[in-house]
Amino acid sequence: MTALDIQRIRADFPILKREVHGRPLVYFDNAATTQKPQAVIDALVEYYSTYNANIHRGIHALAEEATARYEATRQSVADFIGAPSADCIVFTRNTTESINLVAHAWGRKNLQPGDEIVLSAMEHHSDIVPWQLLAQATGARLRVLGIDDEGRLLSDDIERLIGEKTKLVAVTQMSNVLGTINPVEQIAELAHQQGALMLVDAAQSIPHMPVDVQALGADFVVFSAHKMLGPTGVGVLYAPRDLLEEMDPFLTGGEMIRRVTYEDSSWNDVPWKFEAGTPNIGDVCAFSASLDYLSDLGMENVRAHEIDLVTVAMRRLSQIEGVTIYGPRNPEDRGGVVAFNLDDVHPHDLATVLDQHGVAIRAGHHCAQPLMGRLDVVATARASFYVYNSEEELDALVEGIEAAARLFRAPVPTRA
Ligand code: PMP
Repeated sequence: MTALDIQRIRADFPILKREVHGRPLVYFDNAATTQKPQAVIDALVEYYSTYNANIHRGIHALAEEATARYEATRQSVADFIGAPSADCIVFTRNTTESINLVAHAWGRKNLQPGDEIVLSAMEHHSDIVPWQLLAQATGARLRVLGIDDEGRLLSDDIERLIGEKTKLVAVTQMSNVLGTINPVEQIAELAHQQGALMLVDAAQSIPHMPVDVQALGADFVVFSAHKMLGPTGVGVLYAPRDLLEEMDPFLTGGEMIRRVTYEDSSWNDVPWKFEAGTPNIGDVCAFSASLDYLSDLGMENVRAHEIDLVTVAMRRLSQIEGVTIYGPRNPEDRGGVVAFNLDDVHPHDLATVLDQHGVAIRAGHHCAQPLMGRLDVVATARASFYVYNSEEELDALVEGIEAAARLFRAPVPTRA
């Protein structure tokens, strides 16, 4: 059983004390965003009440303190993901912006007509649309790795589609719908054998399992603070320093320059070359507290806890008549996400009934419309778990689904 003390963890999250529609809140929408522990909330308050200042430019105590705390978070991020140094870490607004940064700053410089970008059938829109626009702008072409009926990447496609025309492979490490954990290390190796680069969308993996970016062998790794107990408005792009140095700037203006004349400009060192304008200082500083919180729990323990929850959730959901669960059957092969449908009940209706039971889940296409097409559904319901969720909370989920089944699937009385 899990090494996490769930009751102690829950006490750290003030929002978990609230009720929704008169029921205790059961928050199962963690793949969308996670709740924040008091330590993160306190860190934000501390920033605004004791050392709020703009960074890198002020010659006064507050500016120096804010700069030191902002840069210390960069080091904490590097340590958390096993990056060789803090200058491999670029702060953005979110995963989406990190991917757009790579598409613009690396992609526009390096892609030519006929080149190929390989994605997978389970990518989030943020790992599709930037590549689509890049392909349109450069004459490159998208190729898509298919999945089997359990939502695992087809190994034949991996061998077949990653070839000499491939310039970039961009694949999620953990699907936000199916939960599938993809073999990104092997895919990165294959990409490198073909001279291509590898981007790993780690938005759902870094918050939920131990990830060492150097062991992954990926060239770009992207994720968001808000999905790992941190504030909204902070994303990360990891890339080796020499790769960042070769890339063109993305957003331009203040802070990212070394020297500006009306004729020409030159760029700041990396990573600051990619951080134009005043960054999200308070939120970056508070992100540090969430990294400390997760490190104290231990990412192995976080992963083990989610495997336990998913095992029970899948068993209990599959006992409800009419429920279809998507993704790998083995809980060890998936993250803390269970997407499902209830026959004859639209997921939005299901989510509305669950909300009445205090249970927050997500219903819709989960920003993965092409995947919905492959699953042959328009939408699914999705329960996604995190460190403060307990097995007891699954009772409310099951009760809510059964209530929805009674409400929407009751036989229509026929006239005599
Ligand atoms: N990729 C995946 C796999 C995701 O789950 C998400 C968020 N749902 C994103 C990318 C985008 O993250 P953000 O909205 O923080 O940019």
